[in-house]
Amino acid sequence: MKILAISDKIEEIIYSPELKDRFGNVDLVLSCGDLPFYYLEYIVTLLNVPLLYVQGNHSPQIEHTYSGEKKSNPGGCLDIDNRTVKTQGLLIGGLEGSMRYTPQGRYQYTEGEMQRKVWRMAPQLLLNRLVRGRCLDILITHAPPYGIHDGEDRCHTGFKAFRSFMDRYRPRYLFHGHMHLYHPLNSRVTSYGRTTVINAYGYQVLEI
Ligand SMILES: [Zn+2]
Repeated sequence: MKILAISDKIEEIIYSPELKDRFGNVDLVLSCGDLPFYYLEYIVTLLNVPLLYVQGNHSPQIEHTYSGEKKSNPGGCLDIDNRTVKTQGLLIGGLEGSMRYTPQGRYQYTEGEMQRKVWRMAPQLLLNRLVRGRCLDILITHAPPYGIHDGEDRCHTGFKAFRSFMDRYRPRYLFHGHMHLYHPLNSRVTSYGRTTVINAYGYQVLEI
C-alpha cells in the first residue's frame, strides 16, 4: 500500500501532466491542509484513488471556478475532520486547524477546544478497538503535536491534545503540515511512543 501525503505547498512534480506516470501506483492520498481546492481536485481526478483531507489555517473557505461558481469544498475529496473512516483497509482519522492566534480566524482552535474535539472522537476510536482490534492506523492533522516539529510563536505552537491522543490511541502514523521546511537538516520524521510523526510539507510518499 502506497500513500501520498501532501501539505502546504503546490509541488511542480505533482501539479503536472506527469502526475500519473510518477505517482500512478499510489493507493491513497492524504492532505494535511493549506492547499487550494483545484490542486486537490487535479490530483484526485488524475490518480482516481481516495483523497482524504483536513483544512489548515490558510485553507480557502471559498474558491471560484472558471465558470464563476463558488465552491466551499474540493470535489471528489473527503473531509475527515473530527471523525474516523475506513478506507483501503486502514482506519484514518483527522483533526483540522492550527493553534488560535487571531480572534476571528477560521480553522483555529485553543488547546481546550482541540482537546474537546479529541474527546468527541473517543466513542468512534473505542468502537474501532472493540471491532477491529485497534483504535486508528493514521491520524492526519494540520498542526504538529506540541514539542514535535512545532514552532515557538503562537501560530506554530503544536497541540498537547495530539500528544495525549498518541499516548491513548496509539496510531501507527501521524501526518501533519503547517511547518514549512526551508532547510534540509530540519527534521521531518520523529518517533513518539508507537507513533511515527511525519511532516508532510510539500509531499511525502509512505509505503506500508
Ligand atoms: Zn498552516
